[in-house]
Parts: sequence; C-alpha cells; structure tokens
Amino acid sequence: MTFNGVNGEPQLILALSKGRIFEDTLPLLSAAGIEVLENPETSRKLILSTNDPGVRVLIVRASDVPTYVQHGAADFGVAGKDVLLEHGGEGLYQPIDLRIAQCRMSVAVNAGFDYDKAVRQGARLRVATKFVNTAREHFASKGVHVDLIKLYGSMELAPLVGLSDAIVDVVSTGGTLRANNLVEVEKIMDISSRLVVNQAALKLKRERLQPILEAFERASQQQG
Ligand code: AMP
Repeated sequence: MTFNGVNGEPQLILALSKGRIFEDTLPLLSAAGIEVLENPETSRKLILSTNDPGVRVLIVRASDVPTYVQHGAADFGVAGKDVLLEHGGEGLYQPIDLRIAQCRMSVAVNAGFDYDKAVRQGARLRVATKFVNTAREHFASKGVHVDLIKLYGSMELAPLVGLSDAIVDVVSTGGTLRANNLVEVEKIMDISSRLVVNQAALKLKRERLQPILEAFERASQQQG
C-alpha cells in the first residue's frame, strides 16, 4: 500500500494506538504543526486525516504498532517499552523516549499469597502475562522457576480464578489491582512510550521526517 502525498511529496504514515498513547501523542503532533482531524474514540475510521495532506494516522492495536512500522506500512509510530521489548525492535530505529504513557511493569499476586516466601522456598510459580519475553527474562535473572501462561488481556482475572499464582502486567495508578484484591509485589521496570521509525523511511523520507522528529523531541523534553 502506498499513499501519494500532494505534489508528489511522499506521504508520511504514523501508527498510533487508541487511548492513552493517542491522547498523549496529540500535543507532540501539535508541536510539529499537525492536528488530527478525526477522533478514533467516536469514528470507526482506521486511517485518519490530519490538517497536513502529507500526513495520515493509522489506528492499530498497541502491540501491532512495531509490526506496521517494521514492515514499512507505517513510516513511524509510538509504542510502549513493554510492547517494544516483546516485539524485539527488529527493523526499527528508536530515536526518542517520548516520556508519555508512563507506567511500570510489575509482578502482582492475590492479597493473601506470600510471594517472597514462595520465592525463598524455590517454589515453581505459574505466571500469567501478555509479556512472556520480559517475564521470562525477569524470573530467569532472579533464578525463579516459572511456568508462563500467555494471555492477551484481563490478566488480573488469572490469580482470582486459580489460573496462576502471579501476573506480570503494566500498572499505572494501581486502581485495577486494588479493585481485584491483588497486590503489587515487585516492580520489574519503568515503562514509557518511544517513537519508532522505519529504517528505510528514515533514509528515504528524511527531509519530511526530520522536522517532525525534532519537534517531538523538543516537546517531550518539556514534559519533564
Ligand atoms: P491502573 O488501574 O491505573 O493501574 O491501570 C492498569 C491497567 O491499565 C492495566 O490493566 C493496563 O493494562 C492498563 N494501562 C495503564 N497504563 C498503561 C500504559 N501506559 N500502557 C498500557 N496499558 C496501560
């Protein structure tokens, strides 16, 4: 799929996911003079126009952003560190930590479960998560034996119904864990969203991309 821009200029395609990443990217786009003309929460469109006829936005699942950018279906995108670690980052240039959509990846268990004791005793833990690569590395580095159970969402449910002893999930306010009587027992890492750029696009569309990347970088630094 190729989009042609105005006056033969290459079209720039940005991949974003709905929700927090989309909302937090809007001010960065504004800083680059780009306003998205449709709201993905109310529109069912998956390709959104902007005030710049040379820039369009694809709305994709958060975990699919690196794939669209890797294969060049999008020139650049915004994805969480959690998602990028699972993807592996192949074919992607990651120039900027945008410091948006900040949260942490943590281990959580049922309120009554003594995680530290289970780890000390060398118990084999069943861990449910969407982030199997990150979880595998984390527990391997601690020398904890785990059976990983891959889920695609609602990880919080797994310990409640006995599917797992623990979960690895992203936590922001902790409200979701509390609402499900789960306790955060270990932070694995801080998470924020990164700009990712297709490596070929960076070379072939550098003139169009560079000012946008610079505006994103300046605006994200101001976020502190
Ligand atoms: P909270 O209740 O504020 O701790 O939010 C936790 C829930 O929101 C988790 O189930 C996550 O799936 C989701 N979440 C929160 N922050 C993020 C983020 N920055 N990126 C992706 N998912 C998030």
